[in-house]
Amino acid sequence: MSETHPRLRPELEGIPTYKPGKPAAAVAPGAPAAYKLSSNENPYPPLPGVMESVVAAAGTLNRYPDMVCTHLMNELSERFAVPVSHVATGTGSVGVAQQLLQAAAGAGDEVIYAWRSFEAYPIITQISGARAVQVPLTSTEVHDLDAMADAVTDRTRLIFVCNPNNPTGTVVRRAELERFLDRVPDDVLVVIDEAYCEFIRDPDVPDGIELYRERPNVCVLRTFSKAYGLAGLRVGFAIAHEPVAAALRKTAVPFGVSQLAQEAAVASLRAEDELLGRVGLLVDERTRVVDALRAQGWTVPETQANFLWLRLGERTNEFAAACEERGVVVRPFSGEGVRVTVAETEADDLFLQTAAEFRKKM
Ligand SMILES: *Cc1c(COP(=O)(O)O)cnc(C)c1O
Repeated sequence: MSETHPRLRPELEGIPTYKPGKPAAAVAPGAPAAYKLSSNENPYPPLPGVMESVVAAAGTLNRYPDMVCTHLMNELSERFAVPVSHVATGTGSVGVAQQLLQAAAGAGDEVIYAWRSFEAYPIITQISGARAVQVPLTSTEVHDLDAMADAVTDRTRLIFVCNPNNPTGTVVRRAELERFLDRVPDDVLVVIDEAYCEFIRDPDVPDGIELYRERPNVCVLRTFSKAYGLAGLRVGFAIAHEPVAAALRKTAVPFGVSQLAQEAAVASLRAEDELLGRVGLLVDERTRVVDALRAQGWTVPETQANFLWLRLGERTNEFAAACEERGVVVRPFSGEGVRVTVAETEADDLFLQTAAEFRKKM
């Protein structure tokens, strides 16, 4: 066979591979349960009405889905009081984020985001060919918006603001975010990634959709994967003005959002009461877990998401291994810390016990 291989884009070299949260370990009969607290998934099953609509949609799997997601787009447009032409759907909000980069940034351009933040940003930025400009979080694990604005150059094309931030759970508040947006040039796209916005209880955290209304360079990303519990179906969306929304329609993978996903998303939007109930329970559980950890002596940054962050530094992997041994899988970022999803009470209790034991040995 020839030694030559097809030429691929050099940008792909050295791309960090996305590490999905480890699955929960297989459980031997009679052994204690194992829990996955590593991917910020919703512990609850799909909302009422979702299974029925997915099963019904399964009868048309021989057909392509509605390419423009008419039904879902209309629902979203109504729900958020925005024109349908300002809504764009995609294969999860990561899919939409990738489309945004495709539309806005390429070789020679710069993309700014906080670090540490969502793991997908470096990967999709590098694929785009643009240069990543990572701006460290402050000492309290929050986006340093002043430093991010200072990092803007005439090559900057896109800035991600992850609010709440994954993996720290921390938020930026209205006044500081508005001041930042005032400083960013109008021709730079600011993407506010609100994957966890349903879990926010701090009244000073702005709704990105309100900021978008007055600012043509703001795009808001939302997903059905977290609060809505549809991670397995891959559906997310953006709200943005033209021409950004139009660019998202151009860069979409044709028929990317399956009919099952479209129907499930619509049914989920219609189960608002149940959604709010579940989110409320998870928020209460978040308070319980964070309070318990602090009582054990841990420093836990204020989290507004369905997960929390422990900066364990060099002990990160050891802590993650201790959790796994007890049947809870958390998400380690080696040398930095662990992110732990707030989930069902039994899982959280198991995690808290492990954390308490680990603390005593520290
Ligand atoms: C989970 C997550 C997403 C959404 O992922 P999907 O592709 O919609 O499943 C987006 N942004 C952040 C910060 C996330 O944590």
